[in-house]
Amino acid sequence: MDHGHLHIDRTTGVVDPASREAFPPENPCEGDMAINVYIPTPFRKLTGNRQTVEAEGKDVGEVLANVDKQFPGFKHLVFGSGTEVPAHINIYVNKQEISTLNGVSTAVKDGDEVAVIPSMAGGSLPVESSAGNDAPPRKRIGALTGEQVDRYSRHIIMPQVGPSGQRKIMESSALIIGAGGLGSPIAVYLALAGIGKIGIVDFDTVDLSNLQRQILHQTDDIGKLKAVSAKETINAYNPDVEVAIHGVPITSDNSMEIIAQYDYIINGADNFAARYLVNDTCHFLKKPLIDGSILLFDGQVTVYLPGQGCYRCLYPAPPPPGMVPSCAEAGVLGALCGTVGTIQATEVLKLILGVGESLHGRLLLYDALAMEFRQVRIRKDPHCVLCGDNPSVTELIDYDAWCGGAFGHTNEEEQKAADAAREMREKKDNEDHGAAAGA
Ligand SMILES: [Zn+2]
Repeated sequence: MDHGHLHIDRTTGVVDPASREAFPPENPCEGDMAINVYIPTPFRKLTGNRQTVEAEGKDVGEVLANVDKQFPGFKHLVFGSGTEVPAHINIYVNKQEISTLNGVSTAVKDGDEVAVIPSMAGGSLPVESSAGNDAPPRKRIGALTGEQVDRYSRHIIMPQVGPSGQRKIMESSALIIGAGGLGSPIAVYLALAGIGKIGIVDFDTVDLSNLQRQILHQTDDIGKLKAVSAKETINAYNPDVEVAIHGVPITSDNSMEIIAQYDYIINGADNFAARYLVNDTCHFLKKPLIDGSILLFDGQVTVYLPGQGCYRCLYPAPPPPGMVPSCAEAGVLGALCGTVGTIQATEVLKLILGVGESLHGRLLLYDALAMEFRQVRIRKDPHCVLCGDNPSVTELIDYDAWCGGAFGHTNEEEQKAADAAREMREKKDNEDHGAAAGA
């Protein structure tokens, strides 16, 4: 066991506050009663960016007073000029909120953890809105409940997330185009992260051939609308997530209305018409688009931020029909979907949190056969017909016609796949028959 009562993860160096429960404090520490106080990100400027500080005290009030002695101004930051815990602050002892215990008189003992967690309600921690003007009012999250602090504890202990970052995630919404190979891992990870609202655009039903990669759906879901199956899976993972079902094909008639309702748009569409439609709609509505695509053993991911380039800058026109096969025609390695979709979900969370370097301006290429990632720079094209200096596309067009007919899961596309599968079966039957006859 580690000395004292801290468990430090050997690979990450992160101190795990949960470990205190695993190593109860009968272990005698040298010195006086040492209480660990978790300092959330917004207060950390006072503590030299330290995530936890140690302080002595018999109860919460004494401990916080002693933190204030070490870091003058702390108590004022938490309590303001009053002496009671303000409404926008929650204080937890070992993850239990103190108003359910004995308030600031709650007794603490060596090895306990006190966490001081502010809410957004005080207005001191503004959320940067990336949503367009058409976006509905943001979901407001008050103080996290004890259960939420527990559920998201591995986020909250990261300085880059903290309680305020977790609250940003919970106040955000994301629209996922397609509940298929990419949409599945995207939806699962965003749900686990606690994103406030997920919209699912998919009008298809679950087919047995989907289950090789689409982890939102299970064998019992065959025949269900994918968006319904997705909602059930998402809420089984996290009942707090609001799921909106858009069980219709996305078209020029409805895309503005649907996309306007969300902060982040994530593309998992399996056809070019939908890709261009979503791209153009995001451009007109100034929505960040997190784009991913997959085929065979290859994946591509990038991020388009409003006013800084678009899918048409990268690919000005779709390939002629039949030039690039779809996954239904050519296949895709199931696990590849997980890699690409998870990268998309990661990019969404980074954008929400405002941390790191987004994939904006870079196209990440994943070659699963070589097991190599490479990236290329992409930039806004001044000649882009949509976002360039003299745009000719100033409203949504007929994408179905422009892309040569392959819109959504068309019957034509499915027919081709079915024909190909039948040909393969027939060929195999003939071979088997031939072999048997020859023997
Ligand atoms: Zn463009």
